[in-house]
Amino acid sequence: MLKVLKFGGSSLADAEQFRKVAAIVKSNPANRYVVASAPGKRFPDDIKVTDLLLECYRLARKKESIDGPFGKIEDRFRGIIADLGMNLSLESEFATIRLVIKNRASRDYVASRGEYLNSMILAEYLGYAFLDAEDAIFFTDDGSLDLVRTDESLQVLLSEADRAVIPGFYGSMPNGTVRTFSRGGSDITGSIVARASKADLYENWTDVSGMLMADPRIVSDPEPIPCITYRELRELSYMGASVMHEDAIFPVREAGIPINIRNTNCPEAPGTMIVASDEQATKPPHHVTGISGKRGFSAIHVEKSMMNGQKGFGRRVLQVLEEHGINFEHLPSSIDTMSVVVNTAELEPERDAVIKALEKSVAPDHIDIVNDLALLAVVGRGMVRAHGTAYRVFKALASVDVNVRMIDQGSSELNIIVGIDAVHYEKALEAIYKEFVK
Ligand code: ASP
Repeated sequence: MLKVLKFGGSSLADAEQFRKVAAIVKSNPANRYVVASAPGKRFPDDIKVTDLLLECYRLARKKESIDGPFGKIEDRFRGIIADLGMNLSLESEFATIRLVIKNRASRDYVASRGEYLNSMILAEYLGYAFLDAEDAIFFTDDGSLDLVRTDESLQVLLSEADRAVIPGFYGSMPNGTVRTFSRGGSDITGSIVARASKADLYENWTDVSGMLMADPRIVSDPEPIPCITYRELRELSYMGASVMHEDAIFPVREAGIPINIRNTNCPEAPGTMIVASDEQATKPPHHVTGISGKRGFSAIHVEKSMMNGQKGFGRRVLQVLEEHGINFEHLPSSIDTMSVVVNTAELEPERDAVIKALEKSVAPDHIDIVNDLALLAVVGRGMVRAHGTAYRVFKALASVDVNVRMIDQGSSELNIIVGIDAVHYEKALEAIYKEFVK
């Protein structure tokens, strides 16, 4: 058994959190590779080390002093080392980094130093080797991850280190400069390390006990999701539920390695298991796995009599959107109308141009744009070929007087998406949750 553990910023924010992390890592000899984030927030108004570093970068570019934020960064690391009673000095590292930032280091180099320094401390504290991500994770010239080269070199490096800490969030470009993933990217590093080490499990340790069935800001005390498939996760996170960086799924999913989301502050909780297939998943406790949703959608209704007989109508409508750089989310249609649901933020700047282009391209009888829509996704492997799910969703919505403006069921039967007026978003979500869970 081999496990890769990734600890997020809040799990490594101070010495107390480091102690919890060490206890978790030492609790099982299978815990061989650890990926670390930079120190995150210790309290709600705290500033993450990565944000302090980005502030240093901004100041250095304006040729202003970085002493303020850089001093805070040094103090945080010095504090962790002192509170852990360690005999480690990072003073020469601080001096080098400070100098490089002043001499106009790249933004990615600066942003990556939190993970670099924190991993040095954690490696020393655990008695594990420190394996710099710069030597192990590679990007291509266009900035995308070079998974083949990364896999190859990581496999060699990991085979030489029985136990190691690897900083998350960054790697290097073909010319040797540092490049980071987008924010929250340590999740991706963890996934890459799990894949290269052929781990049996990728544990992603954070500050929540796994994924919840619904947004806890709306539904009070929602139940956790014990097990979810990658496909369900994708549907739920596309609709706003977020638990880890989206790009972290691909490397492990392809290798068939499950992910376990765990809580550093509550290690006894089993968290959420994310698995590749329905066969690997445990039986869901409820008919639906989760409910998520998003506001900020608009529907463009295009009406034309005898539209269904016109070949290429749909293509031309979509082409107009494509030419204006707008993604479409859903495409409900009826015999003489076609609606395209899009993100309001994408549509708004192009709105008039899109209407004009549609008039020219498909000469509709009528075009109407409805704003302020919210979409709700009811997702679950338990829904596939089960009777009555849609009925229960609509019954719940009717019971709180919410009008359904659009319906879309994916052909996989894994989800039902309903469009409603955004003002009803909260009560609609609560009503659906209650219908299936309580
Ligand atoms: N430290 C980085 C961030 O704050 C990356 C990470 O934590 O995953 O985004």
